[in-house]
Formats: sequence, structure tokens, C-alpha cells
Amino acid sequence: MRSVTKPLQCLFAVAVFLAGIILSFDGCGDAPTPKEKEDEFRPLREAMVREQISHPPDYRDSVKDPKVLDAMRAVPRHLFVPPSNIRNAYGDFPLPIGYGQTISQPYIVALMTEMLEVKPEHRVLEIGTGSGYQAAVLSPLVREVYTIEIVKPLALQAEERLKKLQYPNVKVKIGDGYYGWEELAPFDRIIVTCAATFVPPPLLKQLKPGGKMCIPVGGQYVVQYLTMVEKAEDGSITMRKTLPVRFVPLTRGDGEPWQ
Ligand code: SAH
Repeated sequence: MRSVTKPLQCLFAVAVFLAGIILSFDGCGDAPTPKEKEDEFRPLREAMVREQISHPPDYRDSVKDPKVLDAMRAVPRHLFVPPSNIRNAYGDFPLPIGYGQTISQPYIVALMTEMLEVKPEHRVLEIGTGSGYQAAVLSPLVREVYTIEIVKPLALQAEERLKKLQYPNVKVKIGDGYYGWEELAPFDRIIVTCAATFVPPPLLKQLKPGGKMCIPVGGQYVVQYLTMVEKAEDGSITMRKTLPVRFVPLTRGDGEPWQ
């Protein structure tokens, strides 16, 4: 009796072992999302947040909002820059993204996001999609992000990237952001990531009462100021200049700056 059960037990153990190997090759369990797969860059993102954003080394005010810091830690910035620049993706500076445009410095992205004081129920309009990075940072913090880009190839690239990286609440449109996105207005928040010489009136109109807009104001060759615009419940507007910044200009369809 004994001599029969022992080989059977062994056979069973071998079968279980083999099944384990087969299942592990069969893609069982949750596949990592594209965002999770890129974790070898996590230490660089952590250092970026610590050394440039939450404890900047110089005169800059630190960004403190824990939700903003978490979003900056989560978004794989290296996938938003051209492959030739991946090793510089987490540096303390803007980078070229082609067509004469740039992805903003990480600190500025974090600061503008904090200044907007977004809430989970907010619908946010961004002017100047560029790489899609700012929209991706906003994505987990709000209900919807609508973003407009005037350079068609950049808009298409960003749309594709945001889809692949699974930011389903970001909608990209090709067009001149000066006019906003009338059909979807009003917006709780508006963020403009290119510089205008004045605040475009259609954007003021499309801001909800009680809403806020963050926009760099100034010409191409003069100092620009990051400006907070607030619309009170009675519709009245206040503007507050904050720090000096340098952004590419808000352009028209012909490539010339709006002025
Ligand atoms: N937010 C971007 C960086 C923006 S760079 C990011 O996270 O990568 C500024 C962008 O504004 C450029 O891509 C530029 O093409 C775009 N832009 C300039 N004028 C515009 C306009 N009138 N409407 C929409 N986008 C515009």
C-alpha cells in the first residue's frame, strides 16, 4: 500500500510545481500599467520633488501641497520628453520638445498646480498642451482636464501619449486657445502655459464665478509675471502678479504672438 501512495504523492507534487511555472509564464495576475513599469526612474522623481520643489535650494518658495507633490512623484516625466533627452528629464530646467516649444521646468509645473488650488470635482481648461505633462499632473487631482494646443503634431503626440499612459480624464483639442473651449465652458480653473501680453477676454468669460486662472502675462522680450486672476461670485475680476517667469508666447494661427 505504502509503496503505491508514495510515487503518487511525488507525481502530484511535480504536477503542482509545473502548473506553478506554467501559470507564472501565462501573464497571470495584474499586468503592470505603463506608468508602473517605469519605476526605475522613481528615485529620480523623488529627488526632483525633494531637491527642487518641496525644499528648493534658493530663493524660491517651496511647494507644500501634499497632493501636488504626490502627483509630481507619480507622473513619468521622462516619457514626456524626446527620447534623446531622457537623461535630462528630471533636471531643474525646461527642455525642448520640438517645433520651437518647451516642456516647463518641474518647479513651475508644481507651483502653478498649487496656485490653482484645484478640487477633485473641478473641470480645468489648459491652454498650451505641449508635451501633455502639465495635463498629466493635473489629471489625478481633478474631474476633467481639457487642453488646447495650436501646433497640430504636438497635440496629436500628446493625445496619443496621454492615452497610452492612461490619463482617461484628459481631452486634447487642436486649436487656438485664445478663444478657449466655448462648448464646454464655464471652467472652475484655467491654466495658461504660454505667455500672453494681456489676459484673453474669451478666457475671462469662460471662467466660472468663484473660479481662478493662472497665466503668465508679458511680452516675448520683456519680463513676464505669473498672474493669478480671480472671478468673484458677482463676476468682478481681480488680478495679482506673482513671480517673474519666462514662457514661450501665446501665438495665433499664423504663428505670430497675440499682442
Ligand atoms: N504645458 C506644456 C508646456 C507648454 S509650452 C507641457 O506641460 O509640456 C507652450 C505651448 O503652448 C506650446 O506647445 C505652444 O505650441 C502652445 N501654444 C502657443 N500658443 C497657443 C495658442 N494660441 N493656443 C494653444 N496652444 C498654444
